[in-house]
Amino acid sequence: MAHQAPTVASLLRAAERTLAGCSDSPRLDAELLLAQTLQRSRSYLYSWPETQLNTTQQALFQALLQRRAKGEPIAYLTGRREFWSLELEVSPATLIPRPETELLVEQALLRLPAQPALIADLGTGSGAIALALASERPDCRVIATDYSTEALALARRNAARLQVSTVEFCTGDWLAALPAGLYQMIVSNPPYIAASSPYLQHGDVRFEPAGALVSGTDGLDAIRRIVMQAQQHLAPGGWLLLEHGFDQGASVRTAQPGRLSDSQHRNGSGRA
Ligand code: GLN
Repeated sequence: MAHQAPTVASLLRAAERTLAGCSDSPRLDAELLLAQTLQRSRSYLYSWPETQLNTTQQALFQALLQRRAKGEPIAYLTGRREFWSLELEVSPATLIPRPETELLVEQALLRLPAQPALIADLGTGSGAIALALASERPDCRVIATDYSTEALALARRNAARLQVSTVEFCTGDWLAALPAGLYQMIVSNPPYIAASSPYLQHGDVRFEPAGALVSGTDGLDAIRRIVMQAQQHLAPGGWLLLEHGFDQGASVRTAQPGRLSDSQHRNGSGRA
């Protein structure tokens, strides 16, 4: 009998088995990687389960599958991740934007004044927070900073692709990179994991840049620096909103000068 090329349906079944021990979502991962291989949407896989893959496509799919089986994040394999309904390009140069960081965007939007404001996103990485804020508030000027020029190049590409023109990108360390001015809103999802945290041994974080994740022995080095420097950049009544670890709330709030708000679960905030 002639050798039959594998179909979408048979490959997905096999791939799901391959990934079963190494991923929490083997079926979804298999679908995303096959969709990526075929440059199609996931729904295509369901509409055309009998589609046969040629040998080039099979090799490409198997290579992606093997990398995923070794733990590489799906977002790095597909080069894409959705954040705040914006499709962002991601690469190993930046943190993969997390759904929980959308809370920071939400809280910033709630606190922005109705009139045009000056906003900073410190350590923008892929540009996720800055671009989400700019897409919701095109009347505001958003400054996005990062010390990594590679990250900023990626963030700039994301801005261009999404046709967001109100974000300016500046290279440098936290607030030192900011153009002069008084900011109504400074937001940041800085690195906040302790260097010795066992959390760093599992899942996607193993492949993400340490500089985007880890910040000193207690994880709070970056936050302390940001809090210390922020006050001189905040407009009267302006906000500093920070994402931090679930058990860091008290430390972040005591590091904070000015008036404090305790209204959020994972986001520390303080008002000048
Ligand atoms: N601001 C980016 C994000 O939230 C990058 C954060 C970081 O690298 N720590 O995805």
